[in-house]
Formats: sequence, C-alpha cells, structure tokens
Amino acid sequence: MSKRISILGSTGSIGRQSLDVIAACGMSVAALTANSSVGRMEEQARRFKPELAVLVDEKAAADLRVRLADTNVRVLSGMEGLMEAAAISSADTVITAVVGMVGLRPTLAAIREGKRIALANKETLVCAGQLVLEEAKDYGAQILPVDSEHSALFQSLEGNKDRGEVKRLILTCSGGPFYGKTREQLQGMTREDALRHPNWSMGAKITVDSATLMNKGLEFMEAMHLYHMPPEKIAIVIHRESIIHSLVEYCDNAMIAQLGSPDMRLPIQYALTWPKRVPGPATPLDLWNCGPLTFGTPDLDTFRCLALALEAAKAGGTAGAILNGANEAAVAQFLAGEIGFLDIADKVARAMEKVPVVRDPGLTDILEADAAAREAAR
Ligand code: NDP
Ligand code: MG
Repeated sequence: MSKRISILGSTGSIGRQSLDVIAACGMSVAALTANSSVGRMEEQARRFKPELAVLVDEKAAADLRVRLADTNVRVLSGMEGLMEAAAISSADTVITAVVGMVGLRPTLAAIREGKRIALANKETLVCAGQLVLEEAKDYGAQILPVDSEHSALFQSLEGNKDRGEVKRLILTCSGGPFYGKTREQLQGMTREDALRHPNWSMGAKITVDSATLMNKGLEFMEAMHLYHMPPEKIAIVIHRESIIHSLVEYCDNAMIAQLGSPDMRLPIQYALTWPKRVPGPATPLDLWNCGPLTFGTPDLDTFRCLALALEAAKAGGTAGAILNGANEAAVAQFLAGEIGFLDIADKVARAMEKVPVVRDPGLTDILEADAAAREAAR
C-alpha cells in the first residue's frame, strides 16, 4: 500500500481526483507537478505541503516561487523538474497523470527508482509499452493501472494464475458523445460538441479521443502491453452506461467483470491501496436505480480512428508511437479550431502511410517516430 506519493499532472482531472483519494486515505504528498496552472498549484501546495512543486513552464514556475516564498516548498521548472519529481527519494509511488507522450521520460525515471507506478498516462504505454514493461521488470517496479477499463481487467484477473485460461479481454466503450451518428453528421461537429461526454468529466485531449473512439484504440494497445495479450485476444463492446468497466472471458466461458459508478476515484484508489481495499470517496453504485445495461458493436467505418488504432496494434513496433504522435498533433489542432473533426482521422492515416515502422524499437526510434508522425500530421 502506498504511503507517500508524487503526482505528475496534479492540476488535471486525474491529478485532482488523486488528491481527493490521498486526503481521504490519509496518505501524504512528496511532489506535485503541472505545466503552467500556477493558481491551482499554489492552492494544492499550501494544502498538501509537498517537498517539491514543479511547473514545466519557466515563467509560471518563477511566479509560483514568489507565491510560495513563505513556505518550505521547493519550486523547480522544466523537464528537469519533472524528472526530479518522478525520482524523488521520499515517494514510494508515482501517479503518472500528465497528458501525452511527454510523460514517457519521467515514467522511466520513476521506474528506475523502483517506485510503484499508478499509471494513468496511457500514451506512454502506446508509444513504448515494451520498453516500459521491460524496465519495470528489471528494476522491480510495479505498474498498477489507473485507467478504469484496465483496473477492471486487473481486478477481474486477480486469482488467475495461468494466462492460458484467459480466452479474451473485453474492453467496454461508452461510445462517446457522437454514438450513433453518421459521417455526414460528424462532419460539422465542433470542439464544444466533442467536449460534452455523456458519462465522464475528463481533460480536453482524452475527451476528444473519446469522441473519435481513438481513446478505445489507445486502451486496446494499453491492454496488450499490460496483460501480455495478442490483439486477437482483445475485444471491444459498446456499453453506453459505463457501469461495467471491462470483463475477462475465461476458457470455460465464465465472464468476470468489475462494476461501479463512473467515478475515477475508485480505480485511482485501488492502484494506491492494492493489494488492500479501504473505504474511500468513490460514489457507490445503486444497482436498483441505475437502469438497464446495454451492449453493442462499435462502428469502425464511421469511427475511423478506432480502426486505425487496431491496425497499429497489429503492426507493432513503432506503429503505436506513429499513431499516437499524429493523433496528439491533430487533436491539438482540432482543439485550436484549425481543423474539422473528421480531419483528425485523415491526419493520423496520412502519418501512418508516410512514416515507416521500426521493429523492436529503442527509445531513440520511438522519439524519432513520434516527431516524424507529428510532422506528417501538420
Ligand atoms: P488533464 O488535461 O485534465 O490534465 C493534464 C495534467 O498534465 C495537468 O496537470 C497539466 O498541467 C499537465 N500537463 C499538460 N501538458 C503538460 C506538459 N507538456 N508537461 C507537463 N505537464 C503537462 O488530463 P487528464 O487528467 O484528463 O488525463 C491525464 C492522463 O490520464 C491522460 O493520459 C489520459 O489519457 C489519462 N486518463 C484520464 C482519465 C480521466 O478520467 N481524466 C481516465 C483514464 C486515463 P496544467 O494544468 O498546468 O496544464
Ligand atoms: Mg479508460
């Protein structure tokens, strides 16, 4: 069970919910990091009294240093600061809740210190899953999933000793805000439309990924890496209600699932308390009033990002890094109002055509694939 925690991305959706759990469970905070949210970081630092607070943006960090001058909190900036927060000696656990591939190097730094990794930052596994898991094995670092589907799979796999008994992993997918729409209808969808998720309140990037269904594609690859499963042993089912968070189907056709309210504080907490369970702040599920549970098939023709991600999952090597790099660049452009909703998939497809896949990649190959894909998407 975790006692002292460092949070990478503490001002975001996962970061703030992590602090709720930490407060409720009586854990302490060693370090907090964000990009530039100076006001929110000041508040968090005053309340949780970490040794270290990091803002990657230099100007915001200088401002924070002035604001926290009356405290004992050390303030750092830049990637160096992020790396120091990831490796800080007093923390036993690092929650990786930054958004995007920028989380890769700090995650590796935390792994090399043998920390427990409560992993929310799925982009790191999509880009460099093999590398991350090999390092975790070498350094004896546990990786515990924060993503709700992967936490559900983790919980549904507890007690399973022989992975040969697993027939397949089934990821549930809410379908996002645009479920049931045609390509013609998707054409005109704006940033505001995409940011209205029916079940979850999350950061902007993952909310857009949930609208394109790229999020489910990234999660497909995340599950392959975390549970050592080939793509043919992972399936996706549309489940609009987000009550069943994912399932494992065993060879005798038994299905084991984890259910709960759509509340990220539960998977965050379990990543911190495993192998124990303790009372926590997550909303209980009221089965008697939650309504019927429904299931369906994802529409891969309309939601091309999911089809592209499944292609990348099968291709392996740097294909995940190419898909992810292009998607990060395209989503940033969509959020800035520069491109339309359907252009996101076009840009990802173009990058996948243009950038060659490297097999058994090292860190340099992955970083190069990421850069080339971003360039191709621009
Ligand atoms: P948010 O956008 O809400 O928060 C992102 C955090 O990362 C903020 O603290 C932000 O700081 C910081 N950050 C952003 N860019 C950088 C950068 N370049 N360098 C350093 N720090 C940066 O994201 P979420 O909390 O929604 O998601 C975080 C991760 O968790 C993602 O990988 C997402 O896919 C995953 N995840 C999220 C879920 C959710 O429910 N939200 C569910 C499952 C997974 P600042 O405030 O200063 O911008
Ligand atoms: Mg998820």
